[in-house]
Amino acid sequence: MFDGFRFHEPNTVLIVQEDGRIEAIVDAASAGSDVQHLTGILTPGLINCHCHLELSHMINRIPQATGLPAFLLHVMQDRAHDIAEINHAMTLADEQMYQQGIVAVGDICNTTHSIPVKSKSRIRYYNFVETMGVISEKADARFQQALGVWEKFNEADATNFIGNSIVPHAPYSVSPALFERISNFEKNKVVSIHSQESADEKEFLSLGTGAFLDFFLKSRTTPRRYARCNQQIWRQKHPAHVEDTSIHTKHTCP
Ligand SMILES: [Zn+2]
Repeated sequence: MFDGFRFHEPNTVLIVQEDGRIEAIVDAASAGSDVQHLTGILTPGLINCHCHLELSHMINRIPQATGLPAFLLHVMQDRAHDIAEINHAMTLADEQMYQQGIVAVGDICNTTHSIPVKSKSRIRYYNFVETMGVISEKADARFQQALGVWEKFNEADATNFIGNSIVPHAPYSVSPALFERISNFEKNKVVSIHSQESADEKEFLSLGTGAFLDFFLKSRTTPRRYARCNQQIWRQKHPAHVEDTSIHTKHTCP
């Protein structure tokens, strides 16, 4: 039995109230007679800190080990599918997470697709409405689009939605003007950002070269060297109303 901090001795018993609430952890000797023996590990529910439920239908569609820029291009080019197929994949993924012991998820959302599935889920969701755009002149339009999605999450009839924020995608994909708009959004309590997920991103942040430059060209945006500057803006302007930041970092460089 794992209590979230340490493993207990094998003869430990968990006392659970009828509504599922945990009452105590005691020795077998003082646990009474109605003790159920289970195989495996008893543990508090797990948190999936970073998920894109609305992309569940893309499982097994993207070649593996091609690097982050190629992965992103695949996602951008192949994410549109029939809504019934998307819903089916999200329903399966939500159930799979629940069966695997996940009780809460931080979920990145670019659309409102996941609202119906998540609002009926047994899992609690923190919804991070993600926005991106490297052209400063279009920052307002991008922010308004994200705000429209955020409002739908905020209005959803879902007691299991524990929060909704508007968040930047990554330092290399958000213009300074759009960062400003996100920073000033006072409804944000927790934010999320993808950062330094690959060696390619580190190279682009440091030198402005490498596979990410190619990614910008292929995605028909202008390659810019403001990514590092953006990261500094984000740190300096991290507003007081934001209580926490979830940084999705797979690859951290010194
Ligand atoms: Zn992500």
